[in-house]
Amino acid sequence: MQLTPEKVWNECLSFIKDNINEQSYETWFLPIKPIKLKKSILTVEVPSKFFYEWLEENYIDLIKTAIKKELGSDGKLLYNIILNSDQKAPYSVEIPSVNQKIKSNPNHSIPIQALDRKFKNPFVIPGLKKVQINSQLNINYSFDNFIEGSCNRLARSAGFAVAQTPAGTSFNPLLIYGGVGLGKTHLAHAIGIKIKELHPEKTVLYVSAEKFTQQFIESIRNNTRNDFSHFYQMVDVLIIDDVQFFSSKEKTQDIFFHIFNHLHQNNKQIILTSDRAPVDLSGMEQRLLSRFKWGLSADLQQPDLETRIAILKKKIYTDGIDIAHEVLEYLAYSISTNIRELEGALISLLAQASLNKKEISIALAREMIDRFVKNTTREVSIDYIQKVVCDYFDLSIDTLKSKTRKRNIVQARQLAMYFSKQLTKSSLANIGARCGGKDHATVLHACKTVNNLVDTDKDFRQYVQELEKKFTLP
Ligand code: ADP
Ligand code: MG
Repeated sequence: MQLTPEKVWNECLSFIKDNINEQSYETWFLPIKPIKLKKSILTVEVPSKFFYEWLEENYIDLIKTAIKKELGSDGKLLYNIILNSDQKAPYSVEIPSVNQKIKSNPNHSIPIQALDRKFKNPFVIPGLKKVQINSQLNINYSFDNFIEGSCNRLARSAGFAVAQTPAGTSFNPLLIYGGVGLGKTHLAHAIGIKIKELHPEKTVLYVSAEKFTQQFIESIRNNTRNDFSHFYQMVDVLIIDDVQFFSSKEKTQDIFFHIFNHLHQNNKQIILTSDRAPVDLSGMEQRLLSRFKWGLSADLQQPDLETRIAILKKKIYTDGIDIAHEVLEYLAYSISTNIRELEGALISLLAQASLNKKEISIALAREMIDRFVKNTTREVSIDYIQKVVCDYFDLSIDTLKSKTRKRNIVQARQLAMYFSKQLTKSSLANIGARCGGKDHATVLHACKTVNNLVDTDKDFRQYVQELEKKFTLP
């Protein structure tokens, strides 16, 4: 019976299929077309150079075994690679299967220039012989400008380690996750910048998941999907920001999955950010999620007060501005959940002060926060109240929250509770809990006591009035 390329290849396929998972089989073997059989050389057509490389790098043993099984020990494989070029119609080159990286074969270098002209890639700097990628990194988002605190210590040091030896740590991928405005994008850039600094030869690319998706959709429209994925497979360090954007976008996840695999297999570093933990990424395919878990997931938490103050200080120091410490403190106390908002408040405050030629004071800060800062507790915070009361009586916060029964401290504590009740929407239980683990009855008692003392004790009434002035708007 006459052997045809189809028959031989089909036999190979059934052997291959038994030996790899379905996904890989469909991705890497179904697109292959047998086209010629001469002596014991089977020629197959593959869709791209990258495809060929991938097969040679990952499946050569399997393919070899299959070919030898069908064609005997003389059996050989020849690839016919379809190449795209915008001048000519797709053309092909034949390359024997040698299990060598294509880079070692100078006759078959990847025609990247041709690819890039077709796939209008916004990241590629045009006009250069060698393809140069603009990393899209923002130099302001450096490690130097990234304040370390307990809220970000793990993520920061993992990022720093990755920057020292990209793909050389077990943090691959490195997934940084955390709520809005907590520094994910900043940290991702910082890692990229550091890598460029320490390893200038490495190609780093930062892209938001959204932009990636847009480009991908565009590439489908222009029929340049392969070029799109080749481009991404070319980089040494890929940073994708806000991967939650891929949720429920199956096709994008699909291509990202392949790019991810390629990069990971080739020992390239992947850095991802997400606004939620991997477990909460609904609409994300399991196979992607499981890959995210290969490396390290590190979260960014809400910064504590010291970190918030340090961030503001750094910011005004960098900008060469002088603001009273108490104003910074006020901002840091008032905005606790989001660093972007904290910075926004500082900027609005500076703008307000210069526009209206006003002094940057706590009063102005208060006014500005009230008017401009959205999604923040407009009310003064319990922390701030405690701080003001402590400053007033010259006590430490720890003393205030302690179990001491000394009269002056008890009074200060009661005042802090009283103002917390007056000025915030917090429950009695919450106020108690935040004031050294007291229960709601204690807070209720404190409020009653303060009201009584205001009526009976002149000194005490004065305390209350003076403190009130510090809290109420001018
Ligand atoms: P996310 O991407 O998590 O929403 P960003 O990285 O955009 O947050 O951070 C918001 C703002 O806060 C940026 O201006 C960033 O520079 C600043 N920021 C965040 N974390 C820090 C930090 N640890 N030190 C200094 N600035 C920070
Ligand atoms: Mg971001």
